[in-house]
Amino acid sequence: MDRIKMKTPLVEMDGDEMTRILWQMIKDELIMPFIDLKTEYYDLGLEHRNETDDQVTVDSAEATRKYGVAVKCATITPNAARMTEYQLKEMWKSPNGTIRAILDGTVFRAPIVVKGIEPCVRNWEKPITIARHAYGDIYKNVEIQVPGEGKAELVFTAKDGTVRKETVHEFKGAGILQGVHNTRASIQSFARACFNYALDTRQDLWFGAKDTISKKYDHSFKDIFQEIYDAEYKERFEAEGLAYFYSLIDDIVARVMKAKGGFIWACKNYDGDVMSDMVSSAFGSLAMMTSVLVSPTGVYEYEAAHGTVQRHYYKHLKGEETSTNSVATIFAWTGALRKRGELDGIRELMEFADKLEKATLATIEAGKMTKDLALITTLKDVTVLNSGDFIKEIRKTLEAM
Ligand code: NAP
Ligand code: MG
Repeated sequence: MDRIKMKTPLVEMDGDEMTRILWQMIKDELIMPFIDLKTEYYDLGLEHRNETDDQVTVDSAEATRKYGVAVKCATITPNAARMTEYQLKEMWKSPNGTIRAILDGTVFRAPIVVKGIEPCVRNWEKPITIARHAYGDIYKNVEIQVPGEGKAELVFTAKDGTVRKETVHEFKGAGILQGVHNTRASIQSFARACFNYALDTRQDLWFGAKDTISKKYDHSFKDIFQEIYDAEYKERFEAEGLAYFYSLIDDIVARVMKAKGGFIWACKNYDGDVMSDMVSSAFGSLAMMTSVLVSPTGVYEYEAAHGTVQRHYYKHLKGEETSTNSVATIFAWTGALRKRGELDGIRELMEFADKLEKATLATIEAGKMTKDLALITTLKDVTVLNSGDFIKEIRKTLEAM
C-alpha cells in the first residue's frame, strides 16, 4: 500500500512518562504504517528540557509559529519532587505556559463522545467545547489582607500624570481586598480566536459574563465581542448558518444544562477553569478530552487534556502491565494531521484522520477498551485491554476499514 505523502512537516513535541510510551506506540502502530510522516521533532521530555535550559520549548513554539500546526505529548511541570527525581538545574516553567505565552492563544477543550460512555446530563448528545480566555482576571491579581479600619481606593495614573480615583470601600474592621485587570488586546484576541474556531468547526458560539453587575469590566468583554462580531464575522456566520449570542453567565449555565450540545461555550478565565472541569467530568473522563491551542494568527497546537499519567508509568517501569487510555493522544494526532491536510490541500490526510478517529471509537463501541473506560461504561461484554493491546486493536479495526 502506498503511504500518504505530506508537504509541510508537523511540529512534533514529545513529552514525558506514560504518555511518552503511548506516543511511540501510536506512531509505530497507527501513523507510520499509513503515512509517510514528516515532522520536525522537538524532545520536550524533562531531561532534554533540562539539558537545553528549556530552550527546546521555546524553539518548538517558534517552529509552530513558522509551520502552523503542532502536536504535543503531555509533559511534566516540575515541582520540588521533580527537582530531585530528575536532578534539575532549575524548576523549569510549565511548557504549556511557555508555549501559550509565545503563541498568545485561546484553549479549546472538547469531550470525545462515544456510545457506551454516557454523559451524566442525559440530553447532551453532542460535545460541548469550552473556550477559555487564558489571560488576566484573578490569575493575575493583587491582594491585600486588610488588618483593620481604613479606606481602600482604586487609583489609575495615566502616562501624562492624570489620576483617576474610586473608593472601593471604607473598612470599619478587618477584611480582604483584591485588584484584577485585563487588556483590550487580550480580549480582542480571545474573541477572534473564538469566532475563527466556530467557523472552523462549524458550531454556534455562546458567550456569557456578568455585565449586569460588572458594568465596566464584564460589560467590556460583552462589547468587544459584539464589536468584533459585527465588523469582522457577522456576514460569514450568517452565510454558514451559524449563530453567535451573548447572555448573562447564569442564563447560559441554565441553557447549557438543557441543550443538546454541539456548540462552543466561550468563558472568561475563571469560568472556563471551573466549567471545563464540570463539563469534562459530566461527559465521563479526562482521558476522553481533546485540547487545542489556537492563536489569533491561526496557528494550532493539539494535545490531550490529561497529564503524563505518572502512576501508570511507575508501574510500567516495574515491568507491571498498564491499561492507559491513549484516545486523547490519538485524537491530538488526528486533529493535527487533519489540519495539516486542510492547510496543504491533501484530502487523503484529512480522510485518514477521520478514519483513525472512527476506528478508535468503533473499537471502544465493540467493547474493547482500557480499564478507566471499562469502569464507567454502560456496555456489556467488555474486554479490558492493556495499553499496547488497545492500540493494536484499533489498528485491526482501521485495517478492516
Ligand atoms: P494525570 O497525568 O492527568 O493523571 C491523573 C490520574 O488520572 C491518573 O493517575 C489516572 O488515574 C487518571 N488518568 C489520567 N489520564 C489517564 C489516561 N490517559 N488513562 C487512564 N487514566 C488516566 O495528572 P497528574 O498525575 O496530576 O499529573 C502527572 C504529571 O502530568 C505532572 O507532572 C503534571 O505536571 C503533568 N501534567 C501535564 C499536563 C500537560 O502536559 N498538558 C496537564 C496536566 C498535568 P489512576 O491512577 O486512578 O488510574
Ligand atoms: Mg481547573
